[in-house]
Amino acid sequence: MSTPVIGVLALQGDVREHLIALAAADAVARPVRRPEELAEIDGLVIPGGESTTISKLADLFGMAEPLRERIAAGLPVYGTCAGLIMLAEKILDPRSGQETFGGIDMIVRRNAFGRQNESFEAGVTVAGIEDGPVEGVFIRAPWVESVGAEVEILAEHEGHIVAVRQGRVLATSFHPELTGDHRIHALFVDMVRAAR
Ligand code: GLN
Repeated sequence: MSTPVIGVLALQGDVREHLIALAAADAVARPVRRPEELAEIDGLVIPGGESTTISKLADLFGMAEPLRERIAAGLPVYGTCAGLIMLAEKILDPRSGQETFGGIDMIVRRNAFGRQNESFEAGVTVAGIEDGPVEGVFIRAPWVESVGAEVEILAEHEGHIVAVRQGRVLATSFHPELTGDHRIHALFVDMVRAAR
């Protein structure tokens, strides 16, 4: 089977790190900015950054609606941190006008861990990831407040949900792309392969 082509939504955030991690996990990775480019990819990563900015730029670039439709139609997507927020059906404390793409039946709280700690690292055990915990890098990270019946909880940190999957959509509160450990990207590449 040919190598899957996975886009990284390149409006704002740590795009480059995801491109590197995806390439290391045996995908062809490319930045995606324009709606036409959605036709050329088998899967998409939404990076960490600032969800309010990603939301604004997605509107500006005419990406919000096409992306919402592609995700609803089954495009495999992986969101980290701000990307997780963009995949939520509902944000508890949205900035005015902040819209998400949807994809996971969950309610998220932005900057949830940020109140105690701006940024920290912790080992996180993720269901389906072998060979021990991953290094979770949390940067003004959200957590998942609640999930619908279709959502699989893959990891928790101190009693809060930090990794979830619903069908072809995966999301983590933390940033595996910053660690050099590509196991979660490899899991996503497998999801993309299985969806083709
Ligand atoms: N707090 C940011 C937001 O609301 C997310 C931070 C991150 O992606 N590291 O988008």
